[in-house]
Amino acid sequence: MLNFFLTKKVVVKFILFYSFFTNYLSQKGFCAPSEEWETSKRHNASNKIDASLPSDNYLHIADQLRRNQASLLIQLRTGHIPLNVILHQVKRSDTPDCPHCKNGIQETIHHYLLTCPSYAGARRILQAKLKRDTSSIPFLIGTQIGIPHLLRYVSNTKRLAATFGEVRPDDDFKLKEKEPKTKQRRQRNEDEA
Ligand SMILES: [Zn+2]
Repeated sequence: MLNFFLTKKVVVKFILFYSFFTNYLSQKGFCAPSEEWETSKRHNASNKIDASLPSDNYLHIADQLRRNQASLLIQLRTGHIPLNVILHQVKRSDTPDCPHCKNGIQETIHHYLLTCPSYAGARRILQAKLKRDTSSIPFLIGTQIGIPHLLRYVSNTKRLAATFGEVRPDDDFKLKEKEPKTKQRRQRNEDEA
């Protein structure tokens, strides 16, 4: 029975439900998201992804990830990731500043993924692998192509390893596209026959 509750699917669905619920509360003003994130240029684009949670397609993606990878992704998508700007809000960090840059430069998702000079090496690898502009957070955290490379970036920075452990996927890991409904139905009919 315990095993049933701990299966990956159940855990992933719980995380999705929890994130959807907290996101709903923050949209209704019950808990305030970070001020910088609110005013960030990326906020609107990222919010569009949140608004679709929990989508069929996202469940399909999460099903192919390990539990720690799915948790990381969902926390990035909802903005509740343990970077200093969030940790400071919940009084688990003395400062919202980036541990490398300091001087009032807050450690937001945008800063961590796109601009912090401490992770320039990891960002160069990301750019070289993707062979395209990597400055779109929705692309990195919301697409089949972006997500595996994002996980490698996070692994290379080691910044979130204490929370999530090793999130690096295998070198040949690719997320499968969701099959069209008709194909799924045909497959099911063949399996049952
Ligand atoms: Zn920094």
